[in-house]
This record gives sequence, structure tokens and C-alpha cells, in this order.
Amino acid sequence: MREIITRFAPSPTGYLHIGGLRTALFNYLFARSNGGKFLLRIEDTDLARNSIEATEAIIKAFEWVGMDYDGEVLYQSKRFDLYKNYIHKLISEDKAYYCYMSKEELDNLREAQKARGETPKYDNRYRDFKGTPPKDIKPVVRIKAPLEGYIEFNDGVKGSIKVEVKELDDFIIARSDGSPTYNFVVTIDDALSKVSDIIRGDDHLSNTPKQIIVYKALGFDIPNFYHVPMILNPQGQKLSKRDGAMGVMDYKKEGYLPEAILNFLVRLGWSHKDQEIFSMEEMLKLFNPKDLNSSPSSYNQEKFLWLNTHYIKEKSNDALENLLEEFQCPKIQKSQRNVLYTALKDRVSTLKDFAANAIDILTPPCSYDEKSLSKINEQSYETLKKFLSMLEKSFLDTPEKCNECLHKFMDQESLKPGNFMQPLRIALLGKPGGIGIAETIYVIGKEDTIKRIEKFCKA
Ligand code: GLU
Repeated sequence: MREIITRFAPSPTGYLHIGGLRTALFNYLFARSNGGKFLLRIEDTDLARNSIEATEAIIKAFEWVGMDYDGEVLYQSKRFDLYKNYIHKLISEDKAYYCYMSKEELDNLREAQKARGETPKYDNRYRDFKGTPPKDIKPVVRIKAPLEGYIEFNDGVKGSIKVEVKELDDFIIARSDGSPTYNFVVTIDDALSKVSDIIRGDDHLSNTPKQIIVYKALGFDIPNFYHVPMILNPQGQKLSKRDGAMGVMDYKKEGYLPEAILNFLVRLGWSHKDQEIFSMEEMLKLFNPKDLNSSPSSYNQEKFLWLNTHYIKEKSNDALENLLEEFQCPKIQKSQRNVLYTALKDRVSTLKDFAANAIDILTPPCSYDEKSLSKINEQSYETLKKFLSMLEKSFLDTPEKCNECLHKFMDQESLKPGNFMQPLRIALLGKPGGIGIAETIYVIGKEDTIKRIEKFCKA
């Protein structure tokens, strides 16, 4: 059986966005689930538009989500000599040729074709040229594309694709400065790396016939192609920054877990029955590119957050504590921490929110919500003061005991929970909402609880 070798081949012109990561994930899953290889190639031939930072960010993002690749990262910018050898090979085999057409000549040709209502296209004038080349023109190299027939291939997502060669021309494989062109280098790299299956965005579909021409000219095996539709926003348009098309590492800063990102992405364009939650293990077991969807998928932020909540809940408290360090969440005693984390796990959908909520609870309020204050009367302050003496003589060493203390006090004073808990919450946290009051008291501790109530009553 043939070995499955896939690759991810980003152009480092910007940060790795989630659409790119999805492509990488599909390739990764296909290779890994078949015991094959997954390669990383940086397509950095466009020296003016590439940045080292973007390349580093891609590699960092891979590390963060835990997708490992085989071997060294391959950089196209380091392989120019190799590409040139293949260009010369094709010239020497009469499968490619120098074209001396100047830019003006090409422009004139195009204008004339357009005026006749034809699609602009190179007219093969140097294809079999044997004369003396014009002086002062640095030639480009063009490949001899077939003159008739079709380029056909079976796309794993789109089905059978058939392009009439009339629609293609003898396209350029080396520019006049000798630099090789995109479709040429992609083909050489994929062929030399023995890539068996290429899963990529369908924005590359129109490149494939050209690449097949190169494969054939060089006698390389043609891989299987899968062109995956784009991710769209809920309005059906191309995903923009506003919809969440951020760099992968921005999601880290926003408090997303890699498990949630990968799970979210795998479902954008792939499905298995109506299952939504996939661990990496399950993805590896179930992923098959045959199940890739041929219609575009839609980015659903709510679902993303729902998944993130799920994976936050799955984390052990020790693991969460480490993750929350990045969000400046202070470390507290383990028993208090466990109560706080259990309470927050049900309420937040990102680590950033988690930390913000924890910090809110652990930091004494420096102001009190105006609207809530307006509802607190003299009687409430008196009640809170009375509660202080109950607190003083209570043991508050478990959340249950905190709860008992609260209820004992309310019974003793014949208070309705609503009338007492709300002012108490404002005294402790400065605002309404949040985790249970008994848990809050346990987490902040007896001493701090007393201090916060005293401060509130004096304010
Ligand atoms: N470098 C291309 C891109 O970033 C990908 C090329 C390919 O997958 O064949 O879109």
C-alpha cells in the first residue's frame, strides 16, 4: 500500500489564520491516522512579502496546538538552485523554452485579442522558435503545455474536474530574472517530498491543472487532490477579522484552548454523523478526507465558545492553574482554589474570562455598583453588621459550613434569602451576579469576608 504523505505549505505573508490551521489539521489527521508523514513547507519565494515573524508564528502555532510534523521544515527560498536545475532539464528535453517577447509585445497581443472578443492568452510564438533571439531581451521560460485535449483529475471533494487545454497556455515557469514561478516550485517540492495527497483551500483549484502539466512534463506521479471550500461568516461572506479570522496565537491570548480550536476546525467542512465533540484521538480514528464537505462551512462563534467551555471543564484544576498563569490569575490555597474553579467552570467560556472572574472574586471591591447600592437600605446595613458577629464565632473551613452559617443567620433573623444575600453580595464583591455566596465566603476566607463587610458598612 502506498504511504500517505501530506503537507501544509503556508506562505508566510501574514500570521497563520484559522482557515490555514484547518487545512493543516486535515492534512495532519489524514497522514497520522494512516501512519504516514505530515510535512511542513514554508512557501517563502515572494521575498518582498514574506516575514520571518510570520514564519516563526506559524511554527509557534503548530507547537501550541500540538501538531507535530516530520523532519525539518522545508523553506522554498533555500531551494532556488534545485528549481533552476529542473527548469534546465525541461529546456534540454524540449519541454520548455525561452520566450523573448517583451512586455509591450505581450500587452499589444492581449489588447488585440480582447478587441476581437477573445480571452487574452500567449500565442506560442516562441514555442518552436529556432531563429536568432532578439538582443536586449531577458527571456522568460515557458513550459510546453499540451496543445489539445483536456487536463482531467478526480478531486476528492469536488469530484471529476476536466479543463480544456485551450483555456491554458504555455505558462511561465521562470521569470526573466531566472526566478521560478509559484506553480512550478509547488510541484517540484510536492513531487520530491513524495506527497501523496494534497488537501488545500479551493482557491487553489485553478492552479491544479497547471501543476498537473508540470508533473507530467517531469514524469512525476500525480498526487490526489482535495480542494476544500472556504470558511464563511454566518452571512455567507468571506471570513474577515471582525468575524473572528484572527491569527491562531490571538486565540491563545483570548483564552481559547487548543483542543477547542482543533475540535471547532475539524467540524468546519468535515463531519461524522451528528457528533460535535472530538478528542484528538477520535479525530484520528474517524477522519477520512472522503467525508470532507463540498459546500462551504460557516463560522459559528457560539459553538466555538461552547466547545471551549467543554474543554475548560475537562481540565484538571492543576492544569487549569498553570494555564491561568498567563492571564495573571493569582495562585491560592488548593482547597479554596478547587471550590473557586469548580464554580467558575460552569460560568465562563474562555481562560481570559476565567481569570477575570477569579480576580474579581479574590480582589476586594474598590467601588460598589450604583444601582445595587440604591436598593440597599439602613436595615440592610444593620443586618450585615449583625452578620459580622455570627461570622466571628463561626468555623468557615468548608463551603458547607459557610452555607450553614448563612442559613443559621437568616433563620435567626427571619430573613428572606433575597433580602440578605443581595446586600451581602454587594458588600463582598461590589456587584450583583457571580458564584454562590457560600463559595465566595469560603474562597476569600473568614478574615477577608469580615474586612469586606466592615469596609462596606463604613463606606
Ligand atoms: N502557499 C499556499 C497558500 O498559503 C498553499 C499552496 C498549496 O497548498 O498548494 O495558500
